[in-house]
Amino acid sequence: MKQAKALPLFLAAFVLSVTASAQSFADKFTIESAETVLNIGERIERGEVIGEADWDSLFATKGYSIYNMRDSQREKIKDAMILAFNPARRAEADSICQLRPKVDTPALVLCQNLCRLAKRTQEARHFLGSTDFARLLAKADSMVQNFIPRRATKGTVALNDLHLICFIPDATVRDKAVQMDLNLALNMSEDEIVRLLAHEFFHNYRDAAYNIDSRDTFLKVFSHFQNEGMADLIDKNEQPEKLYVAFGEDYARLFLHELADAPQTLLQIDSLLTAYKAEGNANGGEYGPLVELFVFNGHPVGIYMARLIREQGLLGKLIAQFDNPYRFALIYNEAAKRKNRHGGHEYTLSQALLQHLKQCSQ
Ligand SMILES: [Zn+2]
Repeated sequence: MKQAKALPLFLAAFVLSVTASAQSFADKFTIESAETVLNIGERIERGEVIGEADWDSLFATKGYSIYNMRDSQREKIKDAMILAFNPARRAEADSICQLRPKVDTPALVLCQNLCRLAKRTQEARHFLGSTDFARLLAKADSMVQNFIPRRATKGTVALNDLHLICFIPDATVRDKAVQMDLNLALNMSEDEIVRLLAHEFFHNYRDAAYNIDSRDTFLKVFSHFQNEGMADLIDKNEQPEKLYVAFGEDYARLFLHELADAPQTLLQIDSLLTAYKAEGNANGGEYGPLVELFVFNGHPVGIYMARLIREQGLLGKLIAQFDNPYRFALIYNEAAKRKNRHGGHEYTLSQALLQHLKQCSQ
């Protein structure tokens, strides 16, 4: 009886707190870039010629201006839009969408993405008009709290803004803002968008908490593994294979190969440390052979390690050490050993590597 009375009060407090936190995100997003693309697209569809001033105003919107694009990059977007939205060139656009993008053909990925967007402008306008982005950002901020220790929220951590743009099917971070592609967003559920934003907020909280000065390449690489691996647990844990699908099969296959190869990569890093200790770093600066092993910004190895840690019930321990790459390596080893005790064949990092990371962290 007591509980039944308390519930509405609790609910009211919850609704109030979500509304209040959504309000604090009210100024942290823009949809102007994406809307301007749709507006220009409509005019192209009507056969209008778009003047330089119109293009300039598109690239002056927040989402695009952040990129500080070269003229050649602007031309690629312009050409892709002129093709994508022109009804007379529909057959050409359709045949371009049939091509298979390769790792080294980003212009094709861009063109295909805009052609696909041009076919769903009604849906896109509805999405922009009806989505409460401030609420999604607030939800993302409350979700990320489950992946960071309480101490991380002390003080004020500046979280990324969000700008909806039309570009390649990706969400990239620049200048303290997430630039999210509209067509990508249309293909995602609300929960997926919230998770993606929570992934980026994780980086904000971790960057603010990270206070290790070392420029050692090994430590830096493990820091990236931890940063992306933990963030990927928020939005890519279930299906990491989906990560690069939008960039084409070749790209996705390359990523999956790196993911499957993560234990081998860790073993190679261990061997490199032996060479590094024996020969030193001839060129100074970053250790070249290690940088070469570091691909996809550390995502494949990072998520491999973080997933194993989670699978072995050590996520709480990892969260407490979310800003410490040495502890991350240590917890990974603990997880690998646990699994190996039950028939697993996980690679465990050498004591020498752990020791090296520890020394660099002090
Ligand atoms: Zn990330």
